[in-house]
Amino acid sequence: MTAPIPPTDPIMQYEADHVVQTYKRAPFVLSHGAGVTLYDTEGNAYLDWVAGIAVNALGYGDPELTETIQNAAAGLIHVSNLYHTAPQAVLAKNLCERSFADRVFFCNSGTEAVEGAIKFARKVAYENGRVNKTEIVTFTNAFHGRSMGALALTPRDKYQKPFKPLMPGAKLAEYNNLESARAAIDQNTAAVIIEPVQGEGGIHPATTEFLRGLRELCDQHEALLIFDEIQCGVGRTGTLWAHEFSGVTPDIMTLAKPLAGGLPIGAILLTEAVASAMHPGEHGTTFAGGPLVTSVANVVLDRISQPAFLAHVREVGDYLVERLSEINSPLIKDVRGRGLMVGLELTVEVAPLVEAGYQNGLILVNAGTHVLRFVPPLIVEKGHVDTLVEKLTALLAAYEE
Ligand SMILES: *Cc1c(COP(=O)(O)O)cnc(C)c1O
Repeated sequence: MTAPIPPTDPIMQYEADHVVQTYKRAPFVLSHGAGVTLYDTEGNAYLDWVAGIAVNALGYGDPELTETIQNAAAGLIHVSNLYHTAPQAVLAKNLCERSFADRVFFCNSGTEAVEGAIKFARKVAYENGRVNKTEIVTFTNAFHGRSMGALALTPRDKYQKPFKPLMPGAKLAEYNNLESARAAIDQNTAAVIIEPVQGEGGIHPATTEFLRGLRELCDQHEALLIFDEIQCGVGRTGTLWAHEFSGVTPDIMTLAKPLAGGLPIGAILLTEAVASAMHPGEHGTTFAGGPLVTSVANVVLDRISQPAFLAHVREVGDYLVERLSEINSPLIKDVRGRGLMVGLELTVEVAPLVEAGYQNGLILVNAGTHVLRFVPPLIVEKGHVDTLVEKLTALLAAYEE
């Protein structure tokens, strides 16, 4: 059953007139999707390489997700965290059994997960009587969100400058540079936060040596290690957690984007040592971990955790990198990434390519000015990669002229 679709033009006009103009939107109105294809109100189809920015891991119209949402909606949508409900408890258990973590705190978005992680890290130091141990070390090109705490850890002038003063105590080091990290981490460091694969900053994977080195520095200075896996976690890189390749485990991990298949959710995974610093009433949220959203997250986590599912992500991801590397264009500078989190760095700005993609049935997105970022639904197939590469080859050739 689909609702009647109003004509495209008035919708774009309503948006232009009445929505705060913080987003540069594509020139069409999306109405529905199937698998890895999105459709607009005029009937045009687009192969989706963005997935709501690494959110719609199971694509569109997944029958199990639809059924889960319908059943959960007919049961309970929301009740408050003052009451026990089954789906939240089961999700917490499943997340812990599949990770380093002992406990989970649920929230509603990535930013909220980062904000909570900052509070938990500071609370651990506070409980230990270390009142000056409040600094959080972050890295060049990081993206951790846009609230006053998370924004302080997102070192980009355009995002930060108009909104100062931000949370004090953020300290910057260079990504993948252990000497720089060593200079930034000391007895006043409450935590170090890092994306094991940077997303917004341009698809930069951390090296194993860097993550190992950070773990050692954190242990040495009694600082907590926070992995922000909001974009790279939950199967995106071909393992359930992006940090698995390194053998390093964090004290805290933040999750969000894909975890509930498109519904808003955030989660902070913690060791018992961190969680034991938090007591009733010291942190909380109204909506988080509700029965509807966590019912869906249970399905998503179960599906993505299957070894065959993760093997599929690795196989198609490797194929994507291989096929992108074969494109013969002087505009291509680098192809990099892990699993289905891939960046194509160009010598020119990618914005015109994103625009051209819309005219050619491709939904593409940038990561910074010079990197095209591929974070498709994880159910994408090799045949879709072939279609992408064929179209992209033509678009790159046209760009050169
Ligand atoms: C998207 C993102 C965030 C912020 O998540 P929101 O849900 O947009 O608040 C934080 N960290 C990383 C790594 C992200 O990719």
